Amino acid sequence: MNFKKLFLILFISTIIWSQLPSSRFAEDSMTVNKNGIIDLRILETTDLHAALMNYDYYQTKIDNTIGLVKTASLIHQARSEAVNSLLFDNGDHLKGNPLGEYLVRIRGIQKGKVHPVYRAFNYLKYDAITIGNHEFNYGLKFLNSVLKGVKMPVVNANVYSVKTNKPYFKPYVILKRRVVDKQGIGHDLKIGVIGFMPPQIMRWDKANLEGKVLARPIVESAKEFVPIMKSEGADIIIALAHTGIDSEPYHPETENAVYYLSEIPEIDAILAGHSHSVFPGPTFKDIPMANIVEGKIKRKPVVMAGAFGSRLGIIDLQLEVKDGKWKVVKSISFTRSIADENGNPLVKPDKRLFKLIKREHQETVDFLKKLGI
Ligand SMILES: [Zn+2]
Repeated sequence: MNFKKLFLILFISTIIWSQLPSSRFAEDSMTVNKNGIIDLRILETTDLHAALMNYDYYQTKIDNTIGLVKTASLIHQARSEAVNSLLFDNGDHLKGNPLGEYLVRIRGIQKGKVHPVYRAFNYLKYDAITIGNHEFNYGLKFLNSVLKGVKMPVVNANVYSVKTNKPYFKPYVILKRRVVDKQGIGHDLKIGVIGFMPPQIMRWDKANLEGKVLARPIVESAKEFVPIMKSEGADIIIALAHTGIDSEPYHPETENAVYYLSEIPEIDAILAGHSHSVFPGPTFKDIPMANIVEGKIKRKPVVMAGAFGSRLGIIDLQLEVKDGKWKVVKSISFTRSIADENGNPLVKPDKRLFKLIKREHQETVDFLKKLGI
């Protein structure tokens, strides 16, 4: 379908819906959870490592295989195709390139100013994000200060404060979203979102974290909070799992725990990350019970969108009411790339996002030039 046609259909359906009597919606809310089929699209970015621009700072040239400015165009496209969608980031987004380093070590983030990574997230209206192990690399003080600029919930359930023995971050959030089913009827859906990261942070960032926080095992933390989320009315639960996929036997120190998170029945979809791999994809063809065609592990929808904004992860869920509760009855997971296998661009940059972050980008380029890099 071309853009004009799509626009026309959306325009006409908007008119039809805006003319429906409001009592119809009131009636719908009363009959929520009784019937209907909901298509819900979940979008993931992961392991951006401060790759906001399609630019290679080491080689000082454009690189069309990376950059959130490009992924943003895929996000807009994926949203326009879906009636209901949610966007999440899976962590490791602040550090990993000269831009990230320049901002922390040279320029600093002035009080009241928003870190460009979070400025980008705010602009793209992420529904929630989690943090990755690399978010601790610049210390807790820096992280807490930049997180003040984030306009969406930040969740992690397995990092605890030593002082309070409670989760250091918000462990989960229950998003209330009005979604529209296939008949065009509105439903209020409660979407539980929970986050995890590898417990190895205590070794990797010992100097920054010792005596301040403690990391707990991923699966045990999930089993602790998932029943609470259900008791608070979560219709479905999505895990923002900053952890990879590995079928090695589970132990409390497991770094890549998606394989075992997928066994928790109340978790409906898993956004994976950390290992910079692509799921579904051939890397995982030998993992038992991994379906690399439909993007499932042990029949659970999973997606992992590579790194540096190279891909957008998509999980399309179909929900139906079974025994009075919304259940995922069908799913397909896949990723879309910003470039083809030869590095040729498949999408254009999002110009508005480009403008929002170009200042810090240019400063980084100029700084590297001064250093003679
Ligand atoms: Zn990581």
